[in-house]
Amino acid sequence: MREPDLYHAALTKAVIAKHGFTIQKKYGQNFLTDGRVLQKITDAARITKEDFILEIGPGIGTLTQFLAWKGKQVCAVEIDRKLMDVLQDTLADFENTEVICGDILKMDLQGLIAEKSGGSPVKVVANLPYYITTPVIMQLLEQKLPVESITVMIQKEVALRMSALPSTGDYGALSLAVQYYARPYLAANVPQNCFFPRPGVDSAVIRLEKYETPPVTVKNEAMLFLLIRSAFQQRRKTLVNSIANVAKTGLSKAQIATLIENEGYRADIRGEALSLEDFAKLADAFEAACH
Ligand code: SAM
Repeated sequence: MREPDLYHAALTKAVIAKHGFTIQKKYGQNFLTDGRVLQKITDAARITKEDFILEIGPGIGTLTQFLAWKGKQVCAVEIDRKLMDVLQDTLADFENTEVICGDILKMDLQGLIAEKSGGSPVKVVANLPYYITTPVIMQLLEQKLPVESITVMIQKEVALRMSALPSTGDYGALSLAVQYYARPYLAANVPQNCFFPRPGVDSAVIRLEKYETPPVTVKNEAMLFLLIRSAFQQRRKTLVNSIANVAKTGLSKAQIATLIENEGYRADIRGEALSLEDFAKLADAFEAACH
């Protein structure tokens, strides 16, 4: 294996020209052209020679080369069939890589990981196509997959929302959904000039360290997420009004207000002030009251 080199902007352009490849905006194709950012991603993912890595969207193979250099084995899933020849070329000297052509959102990830890593925990690493960031991450978190951590470059604004704390502007349903499954770490901010072509937004690298068990225990996860969704669907409304308007709990507004007050919260509290622990406490109280 030789040292990764594809991150040089001139090489990226040369590879694209050599293969007559046309960049597909619809697939979110913005290729990394900064070695320091690649280093930051692999550092954030804490890649070691023991690691099996699942990469989503290898593009022309820039990050894949780095992952292969640092890790044990890389399996990369790329949707764009036209990149298969390019990847065969750029990864030719990286024997510990395998590329699968397919849509990550439609794959049997359980089966793929079991087949490729023998079921041992994998690290997911990606410079994610921004149009599918949230569905990909939620799928990786919600399915009970042997995934140890997810280190991804995503739109900065989304990374801030995923890692936000209560009573901040970025805090919302996405923060709680992510933080129920994983501990987020913001690893780096990445400006637009680190990509070819430049994306229209700033990016950030976030590492999500998956919990073995969620940090809160609830009687019914569906009730927890129903309350969370309701609270932030009508963000400016009080929690009582949000739940009364959105969640079909079968309880009257007065009953909802009493229940919230009985759990020790003011009846005019908003969802944005509540932590995951608060939502879990309320979810159990609603679960008990609704059954
Ligand atoms: N990893 C490369 C890099 O860092 O330079 C490319 C990253 S580019 C932002 C995103 C890549 O994801 C593209 O190659 C795109 O074709 C691929 N992609 C988009 N949607 C996908 C999907 N649903 N499943 C798998 N790959 C996808």
